[in-house]
Amino acid sequence: MQDTYKHKGQRKKLIEELSKQGIENKDVLNAMLKIPRHFFMDISFDGLAYKNKAFPIGAGQTISQPFTVAFQTQLLDIKANDKVLEVGTGSGYQTAVLIEMGAIVYTIERQKELFIKTQSVLPEMGYEAQFFYGDGYKGKPTYGPFDKIIVTAGAPYIPEELKSQLKIGGIMVIPIGDNNEQKMFSIVRISETEFKETEFGNFLFVPMLKGKQK
Ligand code: SAH
Repeated sequence: MQDTYKHKGQRKKLIEELSKQGIENKDVLNAMLKIPRHFFMDISFDGLAYKNKAFPIGAGQTISQPFTVAFQTQLLDIKANDKVLEVGTGSGYQTAVLIEMGAIVYTIERQKELFIKTQSVLPEMGYEAQFFYGDGYKGKPTYGPFDKIIVTAGAPYIPEELKSQLKIGGIMVIPIGDNNEQKMFSIVRISETEFKETEFGNFLFVPMLKGKQK
């Protein structure tokens, strides 16, 4: 696949749109300006890749809307060398944004097809991460605790196991709700036992499901 002048032009316009929508973090905008989103989608979506929309990526899943990716990443306040746990690898686009910003990423996907595909595609683009096939509700306790945790599927509640894998001072960003709508939450771990939750606007994600899917 090629990253043509046309793609680059469309991408620049999308980033300007994100900025107008309130994304202020320059590192987030620069990472998204650099990464060819169309590389993460089927060739049949080539002309649509820089629309501010979610699109199918197989296995009934979607690549998140660019505004959603930008909003979640901005809330995470990524610093170089942050150790980040991502639940819902999907296409790997969000993973690439985190790596581009200097994060060290551990990412979990429950759909085997997507896990296999993204595990091979992302390193080919120069983005190295630790990929896991499994149920993200459990997190990755053996690799934790993490500076940041991002959940990219709509969860019915805040999983306690993920909270327990946050460092003190760490941030988790997770959409909580039912299948029709979720509210974005940022959860900061204040101490061993205290967490501060802040609620943001409404979003729509595919559901966070239990177990793994062969
Ligand atoms: N960040 C991805 C979003 C993909 S959609 C992207 O932009 O491409 C959400 C993903 O979460 C889907 O791939 C879905 O299979 C995955 N998912 C849902 N429940 C999960 C769980 N319990 N553990 C791990 N991944 C899960």
